[in-house]
Amino acid sequence: MTAKSTRTKPDSLPAFDYQPRTRIVFGLNSVERVGELARGLDAKVVLVVTDPGIVTAGHADRVEHILQSCGLGVLVFDEVHENPTTRDVAKCMTVAKSAGIDTIVGLGGGSSMDTAKGCNFLLTNGGRVEDYWGIGKASRPMLPFIAIPTTAGTGSECQSAALIADEHTHQKMACLDPKAAARVALLDPALTVSQPPLVTAHTGIDAIAHAVETAVTTKRNDLSLMFSHESFKLTVPSFPQVLRNPKDIQARGRMLLGAALAGTAIENSMLGAAHAAANPLTARFDVVHGEAVGILLPHVVRFNARDPAAKRAYAELASAPEIACVSDGLESAVEALIARLESLLNAAQFARSLADLGVKRSKIKLMAEEAAKQWTASFNPRSILQKDFERLYLAAFQPRGNGDGA
Ligand SMILES: [Zn+2]
Repeated sequence: MTAKSTRTKPDSLPAFDYQPRTRIVFGLNSVERVGELARGLDAKVVLVVTDPGIVTAGHADRVEHILQSCGLGVLVFDEVHENPTTRDVAKCMTVAKSAGIDTIVGLGGGSSMDTAKGCNFLLTNGGRVEDYWGIGKASRPMLPFIAIPTTAGTGSECQSAALIADEHTHQKMACLDPKAAARVALLDPALTVSQPPLVTAHTGIDAIAHAVETAVTTKRNDLSLMFSHESFKLTVPSFPQVLRNPKDIQARGRMLLGAALAGTAIENSMLGAAHAAANPLTARFDVVHGEAVGILLPHVVRFNARDPAAKRAYAELASAPEIACVSDGLESAVEALIARLESLLNAAQFARSLADLGVKRSKIKLMAEEAAKQWTASFNPRSILQKDFERLYLAAFQPRGNGDGA
């Protein structure tokens, strides 16, 4: 019996197998503990993987000094690019190989985490990134990895997947292996204050979309729902607060923890159609991931809510931050959820339609074909075909609030 069918019977709980792999350390200025935590993992020489923006913000220097003051050797690779490719991993490898490192610290957004994980695969197991595309392809143990996010978005710090694109074809390869998961996710809200406003907006909507999609997938279960709902409860009220006042450290903390919990939800229940439809927009038109997912999300909710079990799951999600109350009726709860998502997209000042992002209507058919082949589409609560994706894209060309989904 599938998880999907069991959800339609309230008295039967879907089966799951959850092994927590990542210790979560949360708190203001908790980054000060990185040396102690690395030593606890028997570190001697640490590779810090980060990007130039994090160096400019001063975070890389700070982490380097904390590690050194604990007697550890430190090497810094600070050339991570957004949406990292096999080339980025190869460059990181040349630095890592030269110094006999035994521990890796990923410092930054999802791209730093992905590059660090990709490098860890190759350092410990050899071969090429392509060899680890899929699930559980690494046979040897991997180096201890500490993830320190500086954005509240991907939740990669709580996931065992590395997303690396082929440098030539730009095909995104998801390399999933429990051994690639961080041993420690170090969540310090102070590090996220330096995010530029656009990054706060894009990554915040992405985290919220993770909570929404994981709450309804065919793989959802009672444990994953705890993470989805708690994440949604933390992020929905906090997102407008961090946009209005970027220095609000309490709201930053709720976003950071909410993003990590949504990442844990993904680890347990995967994602859905909004992520499947977003990838072709990024690959073909360079639409930033968070904006692509965000614009599609209300349409996907409307499409999925035609499935009775998904409708109830959305209504229950909307009840977590008290956007709606299930007892007032499922229909109105889903409408309230969509209205709140629209208002969050407006607060983020996202484009009103795909046309405003330079997406061409003539490519809808092609993008729909690609979206239907995405792995994440297979976990969507309602079966979704190419023609459905075509309608979703078409709806997303309407100025927001006027499209009626599929
Ligand atoms: Zn995402």
